[in-house]
Amino acid sequence: MYVGRFAPSPTGPLHLGSLFAAVTSYLDARAHHGTWLVRMEDIDSPREVPGAADTILTQLETHGLNWDGPVLYQSRRIPAYREAWHQLRADGLVYPCNCSRKRLRHLEGIYDGRCRTKTAPGQDDIPCAWRVRTDIADRVHWNDLFCGPQQFDLKQTIGDFIVLRKDGLFAYQLAVSVDDAFQSITHVIRGGDLLDSTPRQLHLLQLLSSPAPRYGHTPILTDSSGLKLSKQRFAPAINPASAQDNITRCLGLIGLTPPTSSLGAPASELLQWAAENWHRNVLKTGESGKKTPASIAVD
Ligand code: GLU
Repeated sequence: MYVGRFAPSPTGPLHLGSLFAAVTSYLDARAHHGTWLVRMEDIDSPREVPGAADTILTQLETHGLNWDGPVLYQSRRIPAYREAWHQLRADGLVYPCNCSRKRLRHLEGIYDGRCRTKTAPGQDDIPCAWRVRTDIADRVHWNDLFCGPQQFDLKQTIGDFIVLRKDGLFAYQLAVSVDDAFQSITHVIRGGDLLDSTPRQLHLLQLLSSPAPRYGHTPILTDSSGLKLSKQRFAPAINPASAQDNITRCLGLIGLTPPTSSLGAPASELLQWAAENWHRNVLKTGESGKKTPASIAVD
């Protein structure tokens, strides 16, 4: 049984890069006769753009990317994240951290665990971030469906990371892990920019005694200067009036050229043809063990 998902954050409409992520996860699911779910990752309210969630769903529909079942909204899942955090806390696996931004800047992204042994009296009243321990973690391994065998030493490369933010919002890493388990996701197909999130999610899933899905990280789309297409870099929203062209373009980027007989066919038909012709090999990124997934430049 295959259950895949596309999990956009509603920080703006889909652009070519995020459409490409949706298309690859959709094709992998449909090619394996799987279920394809959509989860709206709308828990980071400061970054959310009003109306973006509905725009994304309409864009998916216009492009023939029809999902199964109801959309899961993370903003309605806060009690489940709180429960997971309570469980981790009861097991002594998370701790409050009140290190200043200045101190964290000096650490250059790898937290040194300073607050791990500090007992903060009255810690429930003072806003602080909560970090999960990685000093207890073994090396994290997985065999990526596109990038081959991967291994990360969490404590050396990432350190104890935040699961509950100082502003009271649950972090992406916790929410995504809890929901992948809740929705019984078996296959996570997503952009290679999230490759280094995977060891964190595997670590949390293990601590929460939840099964891990298979992961496949696809190449990311970049602009001509090699930078990832992103909302932050003002990648333009895809034009709903050119759905067929947008889908054909995504398919072309992965080497799938629909036959001339399907010229002018609706996006859903192009996707159906592509699912029948999909093969994971088209997205494999070179020699096994390679850590950085390939990128594809688009103009
Ligand atoms: N919400 C994340 C994003 O839009 C993706 C999360 C995921 O696929 O795990 O970048």
